[in-house]
Amino acid sequence: MERLEALYEGKAKILYSTQDPELLIQYFKDDASAFNGVKKGTIVDKGVINNHVSSHIFKFLEGEGIKTHFVDRPSDREMIVRKMEIIPIEVVVRNVIAGSLQKRTGKPEGEVLPKPVLEFYYKSDALGDPMINESHIDVFQWASPEEVAFLKETGHRINEVLFEFFKKRKIRLVDYKLEFGRYKGEILLGDEISPDGCRLWHWDTNEKMDKDRFRFDLGSVEEMYQKVYHLICAGE
Ligand code: UDP
Repeated sequence: MERLEALYEGKAKILYSTQDPELLIQYFKDDASAFNGVKKGTIVDKGVINNHVSSHIFKFLEGEGIKTHFVDRPSDREMIVRKMEIIPIEVVVRNVIAGSLQKRTGKPEGEVLPKPVLEFYYKSDALGDPMINESHIDVFQWASPEEVAFLKETGHRINEVLFEFFKKRKIRLVDYKLEFGRYKGEILLGDEISPDGCRLWHWDTNEKMDKDRFRFDLGSVEEMYQKVYHLICAGE
């Protein structure tokens, strides 16, 4: 399957049309950005790692009965996906206090939450992805109440299986962002699941193995992405 026209170029990926109107190719770049595009850089081979890691996780989730946009990974940087109508909501699931939840609550980073927290953000680069609630989603018709119920239920279900998946690989799944889209009357999990959109800490040492290393200039960025790749995709 060939890449045809570039339909959309984001910070980390390019979406291409293909000969099949129902399928797109996500092309994973090495470009990295943080703080809503204020900090920019490159993480060598990030695109390859994120594509492999995401593909592996999508296949695992499909096996657990969670429907995703994943179809195939024909090359190191390409993922064939179903063309969905994107729901403009980011679903963030958290197991441990970090990032903006730490700022919002004043609680210490690393405190384990008694149960997972699920949050909604409005997908808008221009507005810096503001946090929203179910009332906003309803009034502005970003998704129906039934769809919101599905996002919450699926977010929690994904968290149950992913937390254990990562734990088996010596990784603590601290928090992460999920995106969903509509496809033929169903809602599918989209985008990617990779160290770009997840906080991943080593289970034993709490060493940060995700984009926070780039965000906060912690060093060893490439090494940590490679480490996640090996822990997730070992034996692939
Ligand atoms: N996240 C993301 N894209 C966004 C916002 C958040 O991938 O636009 C991820 C982020 O990597 C982290 C989680 O969602 O794993 C929670 O992010 P948080 O709200 O703490 O914001 P941040 O500290 O990343 O600004």
